[in-house]
Amino acid sequence: MGKTMRAARLHTVGTPMTIDAVEKPAASGNDVIVEVKACGMVPNLANVLANWQTWYPQMPLPPLPAIFGLDPVGVVHQVGEGVLNVGPGDRVYVNPGRSCGGCHACSSGQPQKCDYWTFNGYFGFNENSLEVYKRYPHGGFCEYMRAPANALVPLPDNLSFEQATRFGYLGTAYSAVRKLGPLAGRTVLINGGTGTLGVGATLFALAMGASKILSVARGEALLERLKALAPNRIEVFSNRDGGTADWARSATGGAGADFMIDTLGAVASLEAMKDAMAGVRRGGRIVNIGGTAGDLSVDVKWWMDEQMELIGSVWFTVAEGHEMAGMVRSGAVDLSVLETRSWPLDEINEGISGAANGNGGFTSYLIHI
Ligand SMILES: [Zn+2]
Repeated sequence: MGKTMRAARLHTVGTPMTIDAVEKPAASGNDVIVEVKACGMVPNLANVLANWQTWYPQMPLPPLPAIFGLDPVGVVHQVGEGVLNVGPGDRVYVNPGRSCGGCHACSSGQPQKCDYWTFNGYFGFNENSLEVYKRYPHGGFCEYMRAPANALVPLPDNLSFEQATRFGYLGTAYSAVRKLGPLAGRTVLINGGTGTLGVGATLFALAMGASKILSVARGEALLERLKALAPNRIEVFSNRDGGTADWARSATGGAGADFMIDTLGAVASLEAMKDAMAGVRRGGRIVNIGGTAGDLSVDVKWWMDEQMELIGSVWFTVAEGHEMAGMVRSGAVDLSVLETRSWPLDEINEGISGAANGNGGFTSYLIHI
C-alpha cells in the first residue's frame, strides 16, 4: 500500500484527460488486480463524453475525476484470498459489465437484467451504478485495475492483446447472433454491416453456420471488403442505391430475410432501421444492438399477424466471452482480418480524437498501457 500508478483521468467533461499518479489498488476477497497491457478505445470518445449528459441524462458517468477505458486486457497481477479460477500471470480480457452478483437475474446468468448493471470505465444505466463505481473505480486507462475474478476471460495463445481489446464490440455482436437462434440454412440481414458491430456480427454469423448474410451499409469499398470474407455467403448492398427492404426481398426470392441485426449508430435515421425491418420475413426475429435513439413506430397488428420478434440486446456475458475465446482458439473465427491503430497512454488525448478515421469496422482502436 502507499504505492502509486499512472492513470489517465478525466477531471471535467470537455477538457483533455491528464496523466495522474493515483493509488495502486490491492487484491482482496474474490477480486483480482490486473496489470493492464492495452485497452480498447470507443471511437470518438471525446464527443461521446461531451454530449453524454445531454443525450442520456438518466445514465450516470462515473464520478469525476474518473478513469475511463471500457475494454481492458492484461495479465493477472495479484488475486484475493477467495479466488480460484485465475492466478498471477494469466492473460485475460476484463469484461467491464458489473452487476450485483446475487439477484435473480445475476444468478440465472443474465447480469444485463440486474438493477445494478454498469459499464466499468464508461457509464452506468441508472443511479445504482454510483454504488458500483465506489467498489470498482478503475477503467482500463491505467496501469492496474481491480476487477471481480468472475469478470475475466482467459485468452488463448493465438489471441493477441490487441485483438482482444475488440472483445466488447465483438461480444455485443456475438450475443446478438446467439439470440437469433440456430442459423443453419437461414439468412441474416445485417443493417450497418461494415461498422464496428456489423463486421463482428458477420464473422460470428459465418462461424455459426448462417447460409447467407445480407449486408447493408453505405460505402461500396468497405462492402466489397466485407464480401471478400466469404464471397459465396455474403451479399452486399449500398442503401445509397435504393431501399433495403426491396433489396432484401429480391435477394431471397421475394420472401425476406429470416433474421435481422441492426447496428446503426447514434446519429443514424430510424427510417433506415424501419426500412430494413420490412425486409424480414414472417416469423422473423430482429435484434437491435445499435445506438440509434428515438421512438420507433411499429405496426402492432403486423407484429402480431406476422409473429415477429423484436429484441433489444446490450453487451455480452462473461460466459459468452469464454465461448468467443474458444472460437478464436479453434480457428472458427479469424480476427486477423481486423487491423489496429494504437496510441501509448501518454498520448491518450490524441487517441480519443483520432479513433474514428480508419476503415470502418475493420479497424480497432486501442491504447497501449
Ligand atoms: Zn444482480
